[in-house]
Amino acid sequence: MILPIVGYGDPVLRKLAEEIPQDYPNLKETVANMYETMYNAYGVGLAAPQVGMAIRLFIVDTTPFSDDEDLSKEEREQLNGFKKTFINAKMLKEEGEEWGFNEGCLSIPEVREDVYRNERITIEYYDEDFKKHTDVYDGLIARVIQHEYDHIEGILFTDKISSLKKQLIKKKLQNIMEGKTRPDYKMKFASPKKGR
Ligand SMILES: [Zn+2]
Repeated sequence: MILPIVGYGDPVLRKLAEEIPQDYPNLKETVANMYETMYNAYGVGLAAPQVGMAIRLFIVDTTPFSDDEDLSKEEREQLNGFKKTFINAKMLKEEGEEWGFNEGCLSIPEVREDVYRNERITIEYYDEDFKKHTDVYDGLIARVIQHEYDHIEGILFTDKISSLKKQLIKKKLQNIMEGKTRPDYKMKFASPKKGR
């Protein structure tokens, strides 16, 4: 089932998401719905708060990045088919040089900004079967995980840009809150303005 994606301004995007117990009801179904919702919106990642649930769950599938001609063959092979579910993730380390990448977010349509993040991460998480993993990632895969991890911490990529850039996108953010932005996927806006 495709779920509506919560837009910028909704308080759920600002909550520190809670840990998920192993017996959390309908977890598999929630995960399946999130994948369907993400693919429908052509996203490479989606966090539970973006579908209105303040729980520590996010999904990633970097396959759409794998046809980027600017990347090396090796990078493209890594990105192709990298599909993972992260439950109760804990960022253990972020290291290496910071690098900029033009990020977007399904909750903030039509806004893209360069965001600087460390190149390598070590992250602990549970998979869909509640098996624990500790993995190291770098490059674009790390980038997508960092962006999604921020969501379960109540952080958005627009928090990480300069105050000048924040000023420049203020109007766009206001429009998203009011539901004046119309992406090709279903959204739930924070304070939709009726009429006009
Ligand atoms: Zn996002």
